[in-house]
Order: sequence, then C-alpha cells, then structure tokens
Amino acid sequence: VPELPEVEVTRLGIAPHLVGKTISAVTVRHHGLRHGVPRDLARNACGQTITAVRRRGKYLLLDTPAGTMIIHLGMSGSLRVLTHAETPGPHDHVDIVCNDTALRFHDPRRFGAVLWHPKRAGLLEELPLLKRLGAEPFDPTLTADEFYRALQRRHAAIKTVLLSGQPVVGVGNIYASESLFRAGIHPCRRADRISLERCHKLLQAIRAVLKGAIEKGGSSLRDFVDSSGESGYFQLEHQVYGREGKPCRRCGTLIRQMRQGQRATFYCPSCQK
Ligand SMILES: [Zn+2]
Repeated sequence: VPELPEVEVTRLGIAPHLVGKTISAVTVRHHGLRHGVPRDLARNACGQTITAVRRRGKYLLLDTPAGTMIIHLGMSGSLRVLTHAETPGPHDHVDIVCNDTALRFHDPRRFGAVLWHPKRAGLLEELPLLKRLGAEPFDPTLTADEFYRALQRRHAAIKTVLLSGQPVVGVGNIYASESLFRAGIHPCRRADRISLERCHKLLQAIRAVLKGAIEKGGSSLRDFVDSSGESGYFQLEHQVYGREGKPCRRCGTLIRQMRQGQRATFYCPSCQK
C-alpha cells in the first residue's frame, strides 16, 4: 500500500513534468474507481494549465486555475509520466494528457480515486475528504506542545492513535512501529500517559522516519518517467518492523510481535516503555 513517503516521492517524480503544462485530453478507460471518476472530468480539466502539484495526506492535488484534480493511489495505484505513446495495459485506467506528455494512472485493485474539485465549489481544504485529515507531519506549526495536547485527549494505545491519522497524518503501520522504537515508547502505552518530553521525542522520531523513507525514494525519481511503473517503492532498513525473534539492533533483546487492532506491531520489550 502506498504510504505518505511513496506518495510524496511520486509527487516529486511527476511534478517537474507537469507543472506549467496544459491538459489537452483526459482518457478514462474505467470509471469504476473509488468514488467513481466524474463523467465531466475531461470537460472540466481540458484547456487548464497545471500550476502546482501538491500533496495533502495521501492525496495528490493537481492545481489549475479552474479547479484541482485530486488523485489517491488507494491500495495498489501508481502514476508515471509517458513522453511517447504506449499501448495502455488492462489496469491503466486514466491518462491525463498534456500534448506530448501523459500522466498514466495504473491501479489493479481500483481502490484509488481520480476526482475533480471546481474552484467555484469553495475552498479545497473544506472538502470533507481533506478537512478531517490530521496535521501534516512536516508542518512547522505542529509543535511538540500541540502534539502533546492532542495526545492528552486520546485514551487509546499510542500505536492505534498514530494509525488513525490523528493528530498527524502519514504514520502508517511500518512507520508507527519504527517511530515508537526510536522514541523508546511502548506501542501499548496510552496516548494520554506520555509526557511532554517523550511526545517531543516521538514527533521528532516520526519526522525522521518519514524523511528517511522519502530520501530513500529520492533515488527512484527518474523511474517515474517512461518506466514499467513498478518502481517508486522502497524498503527502509527497519529497526523493528518485520524483525520478530531477531536481536534488537540497540540492546540485543529479541524483537516481539503482537496484534493491535488487526495490525501487526513490532517492538523491543527492553528499549520501549
Ligand atoms: Zn532494544
């Protein structure tokens, strides 16, 4: 499943090829994605110049003067840029064509989404889809104090809270286990029982882990152009995730695995309290 780092790397990979280009055609081969691809997508988007490619949570936002195209990769979606004609495969559902360049959306499981938000419909940030998202992890206005105050209102286990996308988005299952290990916090610890100082460490850990994953993906940026579309995904060197029964890299204690809300959690029983 593409997580926030993969989506950010996708953004970095496609943006240079799209910004400043005018959409000349939109081909939808399958409307049956999540929410349904709007029937008037082509009519709304054609003739519009892409002014920016942004990301909010796991949504990619292609801004144009008339509105914003909203793309979500779902469970198995990917995007790549084509600079010459290429016969679409069975899962290549949408092409956003800018004359000699095309952005191709590929999604075997079809949990992804391609939507359009017209500017006249109001602020994009007010869209229910985006409004309920937690803070962006790298938003400088998200301070340790604010993170602490938000966690004080949550009584569930910290791992579960992080996965909920509140108070901060983008901390998927792997990143939650890895961040908690770095911060030395046990995944079952109640969110409202974590001190300000440890919340500060956790926020730093989340940022470092996500940043590390994005940087790892940086080496694959050119793979977004004229590629098979299989790249753009990368393996972090995990400290705990997937390492049950192996010695902790910090203290040698064997890493444990447990289930938390149907998800696998990995932790070091000695390093995490
Ligand atoms: Zn350890």
